[in-house]
Amino acid sequence: QGRLNSSTKSPKGNLSDGNRKLDAFSKRQTLAQHRKSLPIASVDKRLVEEVQKHDTLIIVGETGSGKTTQLPQFLYNAGFCGDGKLIGITQPRRVAAVTVAKRVAEECGVNLGEKVGYSIRFEDMTSSSTRIKYMTDGLLLREALLDPHLSRYSVIIVDEAHERTVHTDVLLGLLKSVQDARSKSLNNLQNTKNKKTNNDIQLKENGAQGLNFLKQYQGRTPLKLIIMSASLDARIFSEYFSGARAVHIQGRQFPVDIFYTLHVENDYLDASLATIFQIHLEEGPGDILVFLTGQEEIESVERLVKERLKQLPENSKKLVAVSIFSSLPSEQQMRVFAPAPPGFRKVILATNIAETSVTISGIKYVIDPGLVKARYYDPNKGLESLVVVPISKAQALQRSGRAGREGPGKCFRLYQEDQFGKFEDSTKPEIKRCNLSNIILQLKALGVDDISGFDFIEKPTRSAIVKSLEQLFLLGALTDDCKLSNPVGRQMACLPLDPIYSKALILASEFNCLEEMLITVAMLSVESIFYSPRDKKEESRTTKKSFASPEGDHLTLVNVYRASNEFLEKRSGLSKEKREKAFRKWCKENFIDSRSLRHARDIHSQIRRNVEQMGLRVASCGDDVLQFCRCLAASFFLNAALKQPEGSYRALANGEIVSIHPSSVFFKNKPECLIFNELVETNRKYIRNTTKIDYLWLTELAPQFYAVQN
Ligand code: ADP
Ligand code: MG
Repeated sequence: QGRLNSSTKSPKGNLSDGNRKLDAFSKRQTLAQHRKSLPIASVDKRLVEEVQKHDTLIIVGETGSGKTTQLPQFLYNAGFCGDGKLIGITQPRRVAAVTVAKRVAEECGVNLGEKVGYSIRFEDMTSSSTRIKYMTDGLLLREALLDPHLSRYSVIIVDEAHERTVHTDVLLGLLKSVQDARSKSLNNLQNTKNKKTNNDIQLKENGAQGLNFLKQYQGRTPLKLIIMSASLDARIFSEYFSGARAVHIQGRQFPVDIFYTLHVENDYLDASLATIFQIHLEEGPGDILVFLTGQEEIESVERLVKERLKQLPENSKKLVAVSIFSSLPSEQQMRVFAPAPPGFRKVILATNIAETSVTISGIKYVIDPGLVKARYYDPNKGLESLVVVPISKAQALQRSGRAGREGPGKCFRLYQEDQFGKFEDSTKPEIKRCNLSNIILQLKALGVDDISGFDFIEKPTRSAIVKSLEQLFLLGALTDDCKLSNPVGRQMACLPLDPIYSKALILASEFNCLEEMLITVAMLSVESIFYSPRDKKEESRTTKKSFASPEGDHLTLVNVYRASNEFLEKRSGLSKEKREKAFRKWCKENFIDSRSLRHARDIHSQIRRNVEQMGLRVASCGDDVLQFCRCLAASFFLNAALKQPEGSYRALANGEIVSIHPSSVFFKNKPECLIFNELVETNRKYIRNTTKIDYLWLTELAPQFYAVQN
């Protein structure tokens, strides 16, 4: 049709206009057909009735049955948004919130941000007309800080509850009490209303007072709560909500052949790559979905696929690689959903986001290395680390299930069958294995002072609570009697960051280096700024050196950021597209991940706005980098480490022995004492993002911790 338009060139543009309308029309028809074909479509009326009848409802349904995209639309059409109320749907992952909102806006035939919108940390795509709002679970928790009764919402759907993120778990507890509070206040109001009508009958009902009363009454509705989950075990949610009703949606699943490896695969990236091409060259049509552990891995496999394709004969080249992971810029996220060009096969490189959160059509082959990146916290040591760990049996099943949504499929598990037998049945809820300081800070800000007394669906361990309270106390967020401190604790709770980063920003305004710290925190909030392709290791190392700061990785990141600023400013005259293209080229030449840097730049402008609103002074330390390093020491004193005679480091807070990550500027030239930001565990324990400090600063700047110990 595109070709038809350009060759017929109607002078008034009528024809192409007409074509466009036709295009839009047929697109809407296809969408409508797709919606009708979903398993959930046949039970829409029943679901709405269930929601009307029960204040709390649990819905379990196979992935892809249409829960996330359809249910909010059913409820909207059934009038649940009367009075300007909102339907809120929470997702554990930002990508899911964004892509699903875009899809639903399309299905509803509206622009994103109108009736349908989304809101995630650092990005708000809603307006006063938004009624169906997708958001992350963490974001709704933050909203509760400003609106404790979540009074704007008539329905809240906690989606993907089986993921059991900390935010979901805490949200469930919070929603339970909000629901209670709203029903109670509604009952009270109803009682007063009944009394009034009995006393001075009708008279006032028509007067201004009556009208106000009516408004007040209508404004308060009970909160409808829906918990949605992909796993079959609804019991835990049902029990938690005092025996709430659970309904199951029947899904469709075709058989999937499972293949295991005969030997242990030492390099699962190599094995994934080999399997991708084996499928591509030997199997029938159908797209491939590969589960990898993170952005870095995905991007390196993406590059390898492209390289290997170049070596194939022309007729075997018809393979396109697309990727999806959490920090992918939102304008690129929708690309995974687009069908491959005719005759081409699509290979989707995804994190476990593609396990249940988003459903992509056309997949017939799944490659599952059996790994996932997860946060683990050791409360005894006070250390949180990112670790690549084996998935659970439930996850392996979900992953293979992705191959059988539209027809029979195949799943290639890159591990042996007896390894599968050793997987845990299901994943441990995050609240049992992560640092709780962030969530405790938020609960305190919500007025929940007795953390152990909070109605958790599953209680975190006592030692984890104690350790996190201690950490918050050491950061100055809590007072001696464990109350939120003012202003520091309150300010920290307001910032959408890890407490340790929030504290760094607050301190930086005192150290006159908030400008540098804002950049640092933004750059630390993305996965990885630099990358080094396997075949260009030396080249990338040399390039990286041109940004390196002798003080450490933090200032190195600041240098990269500022270099990108300079580059973009020089090109401010160019059009947006040209500038963006030049930016990507510059990044590539410098072995910088352009998506990460772009993301960091977005985060930077957000948090800069946040701190300015809080009234913090944004200044630069200029050439006085010592100020900045001292501020880093004052902020990250919990992560200080001393060099050992043999070249490794001992973390001062817990005696853990760690090594400097090869990506650090100090990998070869090791200082006596440093602070670090991240612990990564592979075959060894590595610390990443380090800056050299004078260990005497620790007793001077963090006496609350170091004076006591030494
Ligand atoms: P569930 O929540 O039950 O897993 P969803 O509502 O997410 O199911 O998905 C229902 C259908 O909508 C699936 O067939 C999926 O392919 C399609 N879909 C969802 N999001 C998108 C999108 N962004 N683009 C295209 N199709 C989508
Ligand atoms: Mg869903």
